[in-house]
Amino acid sequence: MIKKLNHIGIAVKDMDAAIELYRKLGLEVEGTEVVESQKVRVAFIPVGDTRIELLEATAEDSPIAKFIEKRGEGIQHLAFSVDDIKKQIEVAMENGIQMIDKEPRPGAHNTKIAFAHPKSTNGVLVEFCQEQK
Ligand code: ZN
Repeated sequence: MIKKLNHIGIAVKDMDAAIELYRKLGLEVEGTEVVESQKVRVAFIPVGDTRIELLEATAEDSPIAKFIEKRGEGIQHLAFSVDDIKKQIEVAMENGIQMIDKEPRPGAHNTKIAFAHPKSTNGVLVEFCQEQK
């Protein structure tokens, strides 16, 4: 079951410049982290009950580098909190959603994540995200 919008992922070319921009908008970064499995550096910016996740590529073949090459900087994905990611993947596939990840993989902040293919979600990359204790 989807519980809330966990975060909005935004692809940026220059993390430090992006952090500075959000500071000017009046928001503060919580911390940065490298997620090796996705070849990205992420920064989380709390906004009330949700967060903005800035994503910077750490390698040329990073999905973020490819995204920026194709579509430029901007909103890259929406992430929904789920209580049971395995069940969520199963139900999505039953409903005809094409999953990039058929098994959960490690995300930032010790989460388990799985992406649905934007081809089957109206061009918007959707992430399911389960927090672990
Ligand atoms: Zn994300």
